[in-house]
Parts: sequence; C-alpha cells; structure tokens
Amino acid sequence: MRIITRTEAPVEPTVSSTCSTATASYHEAQDWRQILAQSFRSADALLGYLGLPDDGILAPDHPALAFPLLVPRPYADGMTRGNPNDPLLRQVLPLAAEGLDDPAFVTDPLAEAASNQQPGILHKYQGRVLMLTTTGCAVNCRYCFRRHFAYEDNRLSREQRLQALDYIRQDDSIQEVILSGGDPLMLQDDALATLIDGIEGIPHVTRLRIHSRLPVVIPQRITSALIQRLSDSRLNVCLVIHANHAAELTPAHEGLNRLHKAGIHVLNQSVLLKGVNDDLSILSDLSNKLFTFGVLPYYLHLPDNVAGTQHYFVSDDEGRMLYRELRKILPGYLVPQLVREIPGAPYKQPMMMSC
Ligand SMILES: *Cc1c(COP(=O)(O)O)cnc(C)c1O
Ligand code: SF4
Repeated sequence: MRIITRTEAPVEPTVSSTCSTATASYHEAQDWRQILAQSFRSADALLGYLGLPDDGILAPDHPALAFPLLVPRPYADGMTRGNPNDPLLRQVLPLAAEGLDDPAFVTDPLAEAASNQQPGILHKYQGRVLMLTTTGCAVNCRYCFRRHFAYEDNRLSREQRLQALDYIRQDDSIQEVILSGGDPLMLQDDALATLIDGIEGIPHVTRLRIHSRLPVVIPQRITSALIQRLSDSRLNVCLVIHANHAAELTPAHEGLNRLHKAGIHVLNQSVLLKGVNDDLSILSDLSNKLFTFGVLPYYLHLPDNVAGTQHYFVSDDEGRMLYRELRKILPGYLVPQLVREIPGAPYKQPMMMSC
C-alpha cells in the first residue's frame, strides 16, 4: 500500500469526475484515497453516469449547493441506473426542496454549539466525549444534521488536538472517546494511529468508538493497517458505521467481516428518511444484510429538524408505527433502537411504543 504522510484535510480530486477515463481507473484503483479523489462532484456527472436526464439540477449559485454534491464512485455503483427515485441517489442529490424556508427547521436543531466546549470537543453525555477529528466527509448526505455545523472553527491544528486530549485527560469521568467529524476515517491510517496513541495514553479511557460512513461509501477504506491498529489497541474498540439501505452493502464490503473477526465490535446507525427507507421490508432487509457482515444494528434515528431537510422528515407517529411492525418480523437483536435526539436531554430519547 502506498503511504501518504499528509495528516490534514481531505484529498483534493486529481481526476475530474466528468473525465471519461475516471470510471475505468476507479475499478482498477485499490487505494481508498485514489477512489475518493475520483468522486462525483457535480449532479451533471452523476446523473449522466446513471443514464438519467439532468432536468431539475440546481443552478450553481443555488444556496443548497453551499453544501456541495460529493459522491464516491463505489457508492454510486450501488444505485440502479435509470431510476430517478433510487434510495441511494435520494440521499445525495441536491434538490430544490432544500431551499424551502420553514421556521420549524433550523441550522442547529441539537443546540450543539452550546456543548462545543473547546475546538474539537463535544461533551454532552456522561462518561463519553465526542472528538471532532476532521472537517470533511467522503460523501455529503443531504439530510446531515451537521450540515450547518461550524466545522471551520473545529478544524484542529496539532496544538488544538493536543488540547482536546488534555480536556479528556483532565476529566476522569470520561471512559469513552468517540471519534467523529466530519468523518474520522478521512484521516490517513498513520495520523489515526497517532491519535489513538494519544488516547491510549490516558489511563481512565477504556473504550474507543469510531463513527464513520467511509466503510460504507468506500469499502476499500478498511485497510489491513486499520484493522491491525484497531485490534492491537488496549482499548475496547467499537466502529459504528452508517448505512440506511441494504443496497449500500455489497460483496465489496467483506472488510466489515474482517473487522468483526479481528475483535472489533461493528455496529450500524441509520436515519429514518422519507423516500429512502421508511418502509418495513427495506428496514428488515437492512438489518438482515448487516448481520451477514457481522454488523449489529444500533440506532435508527428519527431525522432532526435541520434546515433544508424537510423533504426527508418522518414524524414520531409514522416512525413508531413502522417500528412496531419491524419488531414483529425481526429477532430482537436485529432491531435497532428508535431514537430522537432532544436538545439538552442527557441521552438520545427512545421512542416508546404504546403497545
Ligand atoms: C450521540 C452522541 C454521543 C453518543 O451517544 P450514545 O448514546 O452513547 O451512542 C455522544 N456524544 C454526543 C455529543 C452525541 O451526539
Ligand atoms: S457522512 Fe455523516 S457527517 Fe458526513 S455528511 Fe454524511 S451524515 Fe453528515
């Protein structure tokens, strides 16, 4: 494997996504950074690839595109050509509906700014702290609840990363460090290993959790070096991936099984999204498929009221109804916990069922 020692920020594209040779080289590319560099960055290019007409594409100056389109090719390969309603496409294609103004949908629905104690730290819950490691993701999910988050203020210098570690060191109630982002697996393996070294050096930390969508959207991100580093850790390591639909998992995702076999706990969190997975058989297919890769469902989040995401919204009642049916057809361990996050609450709120 080619080692790049750069430690900061996402890889810039070196190949234009409209370049006709990009597709061919992507299938040959083994290195996740090369694959990432060849991601689609325009709706034109993605729709063309899927054989779809380009009507409805937003003008380049549309406010929704302040959060630009970004779709890695392995993720696009899970989409069905010619289907404008493809559930994967729907998660990543900017739509005019994002521009609708609705006062109930706001930029910081979880009031995270208040828990952002210092750059790189979000400390909301007891015993565990979120460390914001990178500002970038490998995919831009249109429903993202952090799409308006002040990532620029959380882009960490080396100094600030050390200060974030100091914050954790000084609070011995913190048992678990959760690497989040952006997407923490946007860090190169060596930078990630250095960060884990730092966390392992804090005696009261016993658990490391990594929340990442990269293993789903670019399965090649699960490198042997990553598996090795995680399984070598003195910490109890948990990786929480993020898949919303069974079509996001393919034979290329066998790396998830390798993680599982190496002793890493792999869990999945999903968001319940209108027009993507608000359907009984889609949700049960997802749980069943996850388990074939050694992954257990963790949370099914009801979407937050984030500005620009109204068209994905599923109400508590709709969510509860689906959930009740889901419980009937899956073994208990394959049923994720249906939760909604309520600002100020000390944990993610389970959506109780009335029967
Ligand atoms: C979701 C979240 C966590 C983790 O919560 P769990 O219920 O332990 O999965 C921790 N910190 C913050 C800020 C979070 O948003
Ligand atoms: S990968 Fe996660 S943080 Fe990044 S855009 Fe998607 S949902 Fe948001």
